[in-house]
Formats: sequence, C-alpha cells, structure tokens
Amino acid sequence: MSLFRELHERLLRQGPGSDAATRRALGLVRGLPPKPRILDVGCGSGAQTIVLAESTGGEIVAVDLDQRFLDKLMDRASSAGVAAQITAIKGSMFEMDFAEGSFDLIWSEGAIYIAGFAAGLSTWRRFLKNGGWIVVSELTWLAEERPAPAVEYWARNYPAMRSVERNRKIVAEAGYDDVETVVLPAEDWWSNYYGPAEARVAELRSKYANDRGILAELDEIQREYDLFRLHSDSYGYVFYVMRRPAV
Ligand code: SAH
Repeated sequence: MSLFRELHERLLRQGPGSDAATRRALGLVRGLPPKPRILDVGCGSGAQTIVLAESTGGEIVAVDLDQRFLDKLMDRASSAGVAAQITAIKGSMFEMDFAEGSFDLIWSEGAIYIAGFAAGLSTWRRFLKNGGWIVVSELTWLAEERPAPAVEYWARNYPAMRSVERNRKIVAEAGYDDVETVVLPAEDWWSNYYGPAEARVAELRSKYANDRGILAELDEIQREYDLFRLHSDSYGYVFYVMRRPAV
C-alpha cells in the first residue's frame, strides 16, 4: 500500500477543504441548469462530491485513480441519499475522454496539481459546454513576502506553486473568463485535513519505527504541517472559479 493511501484512507478528506468552502465557491457559479452535469476530477473519498450532489441536484461523474477512495465515496453517497446522482469512475485524469461539451461544471479540489494547473485547465476545457464553469483549488502563494523555509520546502515539494496573479494569467491563456478567487481559511486545513493527518502520521511513526526510509518520508510530511502552522499567511489553497466563454 502506498504511504499516501495509508495516511489518507481513514480521513474524510485527502486534501485541505471544508463543506462550507465548497458551498461558498459553488455560490460564485451562476446560472447552472436545474440538474447540471458535473465532472469531479480527483474526487478522493468524495467530501466535495456529496456537497455538490446535495447543493445542485445534479448528476456527477466522479473520477479517481484509487478504487478504495471511490468505494468510500459511494458508501457516503448512500448514507447521504445521493448515490443515484453519482457515477464513480476508476481512471486517470490524464486519460479522460468524455465527449466535447459534456459538462455544465467541472470541479477539482486539491487535485489539479497532479495534471498541472495550466495543463489541467487547458485540456479539460473541451469537456465543458460553452458558458460552462470550472472550479479548482490550488496551492498558491498569497503574500509578496515568502519566508525562506517555506520557499525551500515548496521548491522541493511543489515547485509549480505560483501567486494568484500568475495563476490568473494562466487562466486567461487557457481561455476562461470571469475569474473569481476564494482563499480557503487556515482553520479548514487543520480541522478537516492537517489535524487528522497529523494524528495519523504519529501512528505511522510507531508502526514504521524500524523503517528509516518511511520515517524520513513522514518527517517531510510533518514538516509540511509545521511550516503551515508558522506561515499560513504566506500561502494557502485558493479556489479559482472560471467560466468557458458562452460563444
Ligand atoms: N478531492 C479530494 C481528494 C484530493 S487528493 C479531496 O479534496 O479530499 C488527490 C486525489 O487525486 C487522490 O484521491 C488521488 O487518489 C487522486 N489521483 C492521483 N493521481 C490521479 C490521477 N492520475 N487521476 C485521477 N486521480 C488521481
């Protein structure tokens, strides 16, 4: 089992976020039809998928590489009474081949970094109807001042991290307009993601007490949490809410 899965599989989220933040970003999307067709890319165990299903009444295609996360998603969807609205597809975001113009809305929380912000935005665009919306959350520099330890860590772990301004240029180049942004509150990182993940890291540290390789990986992960504790003013997750032009 990969360390990513072992760390994340008991968590309700595999990345930073909250139901309230999903609803807030969704609130910026205007004029969806009554039962929108939605694509949720890198859905994980589906925290945001359930919110989208409940809030829009739409039909959602949820894509993830990991079947175990998809199974969790469908369990949660059944409990929430929205399973009939959701189709879970095990597959790669790099190999999606939906028909041109299939969706009113594409959603991707904490996952477009896998494709790359620019590449994801430009390759997924064709799946949207004209006038359709795309909402993604992306790790972003928030302040001019970038503390050296954070710069050094993220140069190693996510060198593609950019400022909101740079990302807005990429959004425009990828052919979207109506860009709005919402910063995820730092407390949403802790209560729904880093908090439970940090507890899990401590458990895994005992489990792998004799495995120096895994301990080193856990150190690097713990460092991410420690840095955010100090520097959450400098970087964070930003929702980008964008629209494919209507014509
Ligand atoms: N949206 C969820 C999960 C984010 S974590 C949340 O916010 O909680 C990123 C997810 O992308 C993981 O579930 C991982 O299994 C999935 N993933 C990784 N590589 C992928 C790929 N190539 N195609 C589709 N999903 C992928």
